[in-house]
Amino acid sequence: MEAKQLQSLRAHSEQMAGFVVRLSNYYEGLSTEIDKELQGLRNHLSGKIDFTLATISMNKVSQLIMLEPHSVKSLTQAWLRQLDEDIQTFQRLVHEPTAKTQAAKVSAAIKKPVSGIGAILPLYQQVLTCYKMDMGTAEDAQPESPAADASASKRTVQLKQNLIDELGQLVQTYIRVNPEDEYIASLEQRLGDGLTEEELLNSCLILIRVMVQETLTEANTAGKIIQRLNNALGNMNGDVQSSISKSAESFEARQSRQQELRSVLEDMEDALEGDHTVDELKKQAQHYLGQMANSLTAGEEAERMEQEGLMSLLVSMQQQLSSLQKQTDSYRKKLVEQRINMYTDPLTRVPNRMAYNERANKEWERCQAQDTPLSIAVVDVDHFKRINDKYGHAAGDKTLQAIARHLKSNLNSSEFVARWGGEEFIILLPDHSSDKLQKRLNELREGLAKLPFKFKQERLTVTASIGGTQCRHGEKLDSAFERADKCLYKAKSCGRNQVVIQDTE
Ligand code: GH3
Ligand code: MG
Ligand code: MG
Repeated sequence: MEAKQLQSLRAHSEQMAGFVVRLSNYYEGLSTEIDKELQGLRNHLSGKIDFTLATISMNKVSQLIMLEPHSVKSLTQAWLRQLDEDIQTFQRLVHEPTAKTQAAKVSAAIKKPVSGIGAILPLYQQVLTCYKMDMGTAEDAQPESPAADASASKRTVQLKQNLIDELGQLVQTYIRVNPEDEYIASLEQRLGDGLTEEELLNSCLILIRVMVQETLTEANTAGKIIQRLNNALGNMNGDVQSSISKSAESFEARQSRQQELRSVLEDMEDALEGDHTVDELKKQAQHYLGQMANSLTAGEEAERMEQEGLMSLLVSMQQQLSSLQKQTDSYRKKLVEQRINMYTDPLTRVPNRMAYNERANKEWERCQAQDTPLSIAVVDVDHFKRINDKYGHAAGDKTLQAIARHLKSNLNSSEFVARWGGEEFIILLPDHSSDKLQKRLNELREGLAKLPFKFKQERLTVTASIGGTQCRHGEKLDSAFERADKCLYKAKSCGRNQVVIQDTE
């Protein structure tokens, strides 16, 4: 039972550690101190997990970043240079007068000794906002912008969007676990509205802290239960020990009673050997018989008590065992429930990415061992954003639920579907030749396009594009996934609502 418990805790913290890694990528280079602390945090959350140190580390990170912005003095030179280059490019490109003034201010602030990130970030953000307004359309028109800093900033925006998406998924998971938590509910709302960098960081940290707290509480609960089990086992052990020592005592008592009887008999024999009158003999016989009778009665009494002791020991052991059984049962139920929630996407109720990772590793190992190929497919809903934009987020959610239901109910037992994230699903299929794979995925795609959607009295066809491929023998699943993703991209650019397969050569 302890092993299951540990497994559940480990999975929980893996999810958390993964998130911290990506979070730290986003903030990398902001401050060596924060980098160091995040690195420490990563170490505490990987390998042999230490929640106590992780909590301490978490508090340090949050103090460094949120409570004492002035302690973040050691903005790295590289970051400042990058910022300076950004601003210079910006000054060259921008036309809007307020943006130009802001840029000049940031530029001046950067050249002064850094008084704290708090002073620069807001300015930088304003500049970025103006920049986006000014350049938004131009940037789309020139995706191959030569400026390296522009692409760096694009990367940052992309990273930020990824973090927000991921945060959204975590929030959905935690809303289910903590439905009464107002902060998490408001965070979900704000995620939809878009966050500034500071708000984003703030939210990530608070969420991570909630997760650590929960893991700690869980560890405490588990610890308590294990403690109780240990106590109960200790009590039982004590009872058995005392019963053993009582048995030993009564064995000794029996020995000594037998010894007593033997010596009475010997005394009797001695007494009978001399010259005695009949009366004397009678008296002596009565005396010795009385002694023997006393000794026998004491023996019977001791045996009766011994039996009673054993009976009550058995009863108490039975009671302890049944209470242990009850505790273990309810705990096991809780673990099963927790495990299901941990591996299920809260919106669509299909397996989530963590469940996929676990299943994918197992399937991969099996296929490697049996030398059979494994197929993988990525499904992405077409123009899903339009559904959100036109009919609202709730309609989008319902669409995702219906699609997930369709995929799940149309797969056979050897196939596996999970929500990869957003409006993307991933499917594992057993050994399929390319033709068979294409046919199978087309069945799923066609079935999906036939689902009857109706929003605001309007009938709607929802389609999806699918990219699929076989994982070659010896090939890591990640690289097959990348190939499937490229196929998906092809399916999108060739007009959507189609399946593209890449043969293994
Ligand atoms: P394409 O055909 O190229 O895939 O276009 P698309 O609109 O489907 O793709 P895009 O990536 O531009 O948009 C995906 C949208 O899915 C953006 C995001 O807001 C939305 N989305 C992601 N997760 C959820 C969710 O859980 N619920 C809802 N309602 N929308 C979501
Ligand atoms: Mg997508
Ligand atoms: Mg899409």
